Amino acid sequence: MAGNAPLTPGSTIGILGGGQLGRMLAMAAVQLGYRCIGYAPAGDNVSAEVCADFFENGWGDKAALAALASKCDVVTWEFENVPLSAVEAIPANLLAPHPKALQVAQDRLNEKRFVEQLGAKCAPYTRVDSDEEFARALDRVGTPGILKTAREGYDGKGQWRIGSAHEAEGVRFPGRSCIYEGMVEFETEFSVILVRGRDGTARFWDSSANTHKGGMLVQSLLPAGQLVEAQIEEARNIARQTADALGYVGVLTLEFFATKAGPVFNEMAPRVHNSGHWTIEGAATSQFENHIRAICGLPLGGTETRFSSIDMRNIVGEDALAAHAILSESGEPHLHLYGKREAREGRKMGHVTRVSNGDTQPGS
Ligand code: AMP
Repeated sequence: MAGNAPLTPGSTIGILGGGQLGRMLAMAAVQLGYRCIGYAPAGDNVSAEVCADFFENGWGDKAALAALASKCDVVTWEFENVPLSAVEAIPANLLAPHPKALQVAQDRLNEKRFVEQLGAKCAPYTRVDSDEEFARALDRVGTPGILKTAREGYDGKGQWRIGSAHEAEGVRFPGRSCIYEGMVEFETEFSVILVRGRDGTARFWDSSANTHKGGMLVQSLLPAGQLVEAQIEEARNIARQTADALGYVGVLTLEFFATKAGPVFNEMAPRVHNSGHWTIEGAATSQFENHIRAICGLPLGGTETRFSSIDMRNIVGEDALAAHAILSESGEPHLHLYGKREAREGRKMGHVTRVSNGDTQPGS
């Protein structure tokens, strides 16, 4: 962030990563009168359509990263696996949030240790760097459990579920640092999404109850139900302390399991999050707009929920072809398609948010 003055309209925001989160961030930034320049390696960079300019360069291209920085007043990211070496090629005073958040969140062990020190409960876990360590981890943590690559996993990729010691016999250490963690018996999953401004003020959106299939989010529902409501304060305290400890500016997400024994921290995302897409229509200010406001030094917008019931579902793979059917529904579903060229199986192509006030369920 250059200086303390808010960025004036017409200023330029750099966004590292070219996916749908960058696209929705850029849409919010453009509405506020900013210009965006995206940066990502060549690929289906769907944020490029909304950005004034786009660098399709590798993360190792220091000259291109410097050229991006020279054109920007602030640089943020939409993708938490941007290599730290790429982020470090950008002058620190331009970056928001602080890259320490990336350093912590890029490694599952780091992030668990970080939030544990702040008082969060985690599933039992242990580091696995070889077949021998995997065998010891199974003894120590037991089954059922999940072996996860420590880095670069997302949407259930880089994860192996192990139901029993017998099943474990068929699983080998994948050759990359891993974490083995015990399976948590949860009632539901929820996320805490906050925005923290430059002055340290934090605001929270309501938490949604999240459903995952095969490790990928499929649905976020509000209200989240009594169990989640009862655990939100504790979870928010952890999220607030995490943001404070990182000197965080922007939107930060922490995911939790709601268990009978209280909230169990799963992971964090130092960015806007899929489980916050409902905020576009469902909250006074969306997660995307408040991230832009925070990194540009503008006053944060209200985070209140505007409807009594909200249902956000991801549109995956060829379901994207059902746009006509979705828009034919009563109840004004809000359809978002991300413009991805290929509807591969398991690929997030868009989402639909159904909102309602009153007794009827969204979309019914
Ligand atoms: P992650 O990539 O760690 O967020 O995992 C993706 C999803 O897999 C989570 O949202 C859960 O639905 C499930 N999952 C991951 N870890 C655990 C665990 N230790 N116990 C139970 N379910 C888990």
